[in-house]
Amino acid sequence: MSQFWSPIVHQLTPYVPGEQPRIDKLIKLNTNENPYPPSPNALVAMRDALGERLRLYPDPEATALKEAIARRYHVQPKQVFTGNGSDEVLAHVFMALLRQDKPLLFPDITYSFYPSYCRLYQIDWRTIALNDRFEIDLDDYDDTGGAIIFPNPNAPTGRLLPVLAIEQLLRRLPHRLVVVDEAYIDFGGTSAVGLTRDHDNLLVVQTLSKSRSLAGLRVGFAVGHPSLIEGLERVKNSFNSYPLDRAAIAGAVAAFEDDNWFQDTRRRVMDSRASLSKALAQRGFEVLPSAANFVFVRHPSRDAAGLALALREKAILVRHFKLPRIDQFLRISIGTETECDALLRALDEILKS
Ligand code: PMP
Repeated sequence: MSQFWSPIVHQLTPYVPGEQPRIDKLIKLNTNENPYPPSPNALVAMRDALGERLRLYPDPEATALKEAIARRYHVQPKQVFTGNGSDEVLAHVFMALLRQDKPLLFPDITYSFYPSYCRLYQIDWRTIALNDRFEIDLDDYDDTGGAIIFPNPNAPTGRLLPVLAIEQLLRRLPHRLVVVDEAYIDFGGTSAVGLTRDHDNLLVVQTLSKSRSLAGLRVGFAVGHPSLIEGLERVKNSFNSYPLDRAAIAGAVAAFEDDNWFQDTRRRVMDSRASLSKALAQRGFEVLPSAANFVFVRHPSRDAAGLALALREKAILVRHFKLPRIDQFLRISIGTETECDALLRALDEILKS
C-alpha cells in the first residue's frame, strides 16, 4: 500500500495468472498453452520483421492482420478489432461497451479476469449460477441486468453451448449487448462470428494464444458490427496506438494463412483430449465434457488441492482454483501425447498411495 496510489487502486483485485516457474523438465498443464509449436511460417515471418524497419512504428491499425482475419471469417476488415492478447481486447470491451447503468451479467463460474476488469472500470456486475451439470443456461439471463459476457466454451469447465442457443439469446434480447469470449472455440465448437452479420448486439472475442500456439506473442481480436468496433477503437486510441508490434502483426498474419498447421495441431489436441478423458474416467475421475484444450475433472475421494500438490512434486503442474463449487476440481491442459502419458503414470502412483 502506498499513500501515493490513486484511490481506486486500493479497491482492485488483480487477476492472478497460472504460474510460469523455471523448473527443469517441467510438464506444464496449468495455463492452457498449446503443446505444439506455432506454424513455422509464422516464425519465418516474425524473423523477417526483425530488421532495420524496427526503427519505424508499426501500423497502428494492424491493417494486414484485420484483412487476414476478415478473409478467414468472411467479414469486412471494419468489423475487426485487434489487440495485445484477448485480455487487452477484453479490457477495452469492458471499458468501451460494458460500462453501463445496468449490471453486467456473467456466470458464477467463469474466467476470473471478468470481476477484475469490473473493479478496474467500476462496473456493477451480477453472476448467474451454472446449472448442476456446470452448464450455462442462457434462459437465466433474460430477466435482469444489462449486457452479458461469457466464454464459449466456458472456462474453466470446458463446457460448450451450441451456437443455436446464442442465436436464440440474441433474438430474444436484441437491445442487450452479448459478448462471447471464444478463446477455446477452435477445439471443437462452432464460432458465433457468423451471427455478427445479422446481430448488431453481438461481439465475439478470440485469441491466437491457444489454437494458434502464440500465447507468447500476445495477439487477440474481436469481430462485431462496425459501430461496436468504432467504440473499441476510440478507447484503444485513448490508451495505446500501437498495441501490436511489427513482429506480432507479421506472425499473426502468417499463422492465419497456414491453415494446414492449424488444422493438424488442433486435431492432435482434440484427439489427446478424447484419450485423456477416457483414461481419467477409467481411474475414477468425473470428467466434464470439454470442447476446449483442457479438461475439468474431480476425483470422488481425493482432495483436489492435495492431488495438485502431489503432481507438483513430480514436476507436473495443473491448475486448482480455491473457489466455491469448484474447489474439488482440477483443470488439466491437454499436453502432447507423451505429457498426457506422464500425467497418467504420475496419477497412478499418487492414487496407489
Ligand atoms: N479468455 C479466456 C476465457 C481465457 O481463458 C484466456 C486465457 N487466460 C483469455 C481470454 C486470454 O487469453 P490471451 O490474453 O492470451 O489472448
